[in-house]
Amino acid sequence: MKNILVLNCGSSSIKYQLINMANNGADLLAKGLLDRVGLDNSKLSHKAKDKEPYETTHEVSDHEAGIDLILKVLVDPEKGVINSLDDIFAVGHRVAHGGEKFSESALITEDVRKNIEKCIELAPLHNPANHKGITSMQKLLPEIPQVAVFDTAFHQTMPQYAYMYPLPYELYEEDKIRRYGFHGTSHKFVFENACETLNLDKNNIKAITCHLGNGASIAAIKDGNSIDTSMGLTPVEGLMMGTRTGDLDLGALLYIMRKKGHDLDQANALINKKSGVHGISGVSYDMRDIEDAAFKDGNKRAQLALNMYSYRIRKYIGAYATALNGVDLIVFTGGIGENSEVVRQAVCENMDFLGIKIDEEKNQKIRGKCELISVPESKVKVIVTPTNEELVIARDTARIVE
Ligand code: AMP
Repeated sequence: MKNILVLNCGSSSIKYQLINMANNGADLLAKGLLDRVGLDNSKLSHKAKDKEPYETTHEVSDHEAGIDLILKVLVDPEKGVINSLDDIFAVGHRVAHGGEKFSESALITEDVRKNIEKCIELAPLHNPANHKGITSMQKLLPEIPQVAVFDTAFHQTMPQYAYMYPLPYELYEEDKIRRYGFHGTSHKFVFENACETLNLDKNNIKAITCHLGNGASIAAIKDGNSIDTSMGLTPVEGLMMGTRTGDLDLGALLYIMRKKGHDLDQANALINKKSGVHGISGVSYDMRDIEDAAFKDGNKRAQLALNMYSYRIRKYIGAYATALNGVDLIVFTGGIGENSEVVRQAVCENMDFLGIKIDEEKNQKIRGKCELISVPESKVKVIVTPTNEELVIARDTARIVE
């Protein structure tokens, strides 16, 4: 039985899925979330296949204790789904930043672990927890192979002129300052899934994938390779997001810092936590609340946030259509891309010059499922595809370990 345990360790949370790979990963055995790791009253929400959801509160001092708790629940005779930890074939870890070292998923050896540790300086918010997850698992299950799957890896095919910033070249040479991009696992998954669904040749196609969730990014994919993407050295660049600015005049940030006397932490909070849809609307970071406020309450700032959000996606689609010299396929995914007909409609409106024409009625009905929303005569196929990053991690892990 090839069961893969997928772990996504955040700074104070651990998400997990146990997936049986017999049917290419179609069989989800259990999933859960452990919240407040390292704080008081950590909460575990666990759901095993064919069993009632289970919730418990514990003292979980760190990631190792958290993973230990998760493993115990997985083998628990009542709440669990496996008889023993030997039933776990391998563990796949989501790792945010792989720097330039990793252009694909990797079996975790001591060398690989050290390189992931080195990437901590590039992603100080995410990689430390990913790295802790790996070292904890090595202690708890030393015999079981582990694989790292990187959010940045898919974008390593970008040409240098696309990934460089116009800064002094030495900053790239010495400190590796450049665009890396994120959500790579998702962009790759939805692109391939869309090609498979529509029977398109993934090695001969120009595609733009829009991952629109709390974090949002867009990628230009040519013949299966990412050639550009909107997130950069960090996940703050590019599209407007729930609480992040996306693209912003750097001079504006310096001006605000000087004028308001902000230090680095305050500036960081401003661009990452207080801006985006939330900052503009003053309502919420959640697109459902924004749509309600804009349409039911006539809230002008919520309407502005919606207009800005979709306008910025449209600008990127135009730019990427140019980078690709045309576009055949546009894919929407992420919580907003999968569920918000309002955003999809606003993004695709008046794009007939590019050959994009969606079926408005169909678009209104599609939520969270894989479905074409363009009209048959649209030159560009527009499709909604739910993402499944855990499944990609499980598949990569199984393939690499085998
Ligand atoms: P994700 O980060 O991919 O899980 O996406 C989460 C975001 O998706 C939420 O914050 C919402 O903004 C958005 N979302 C989820 N469901 C809907 C919906 N039905 N309509 C609009 N936005 C939604």
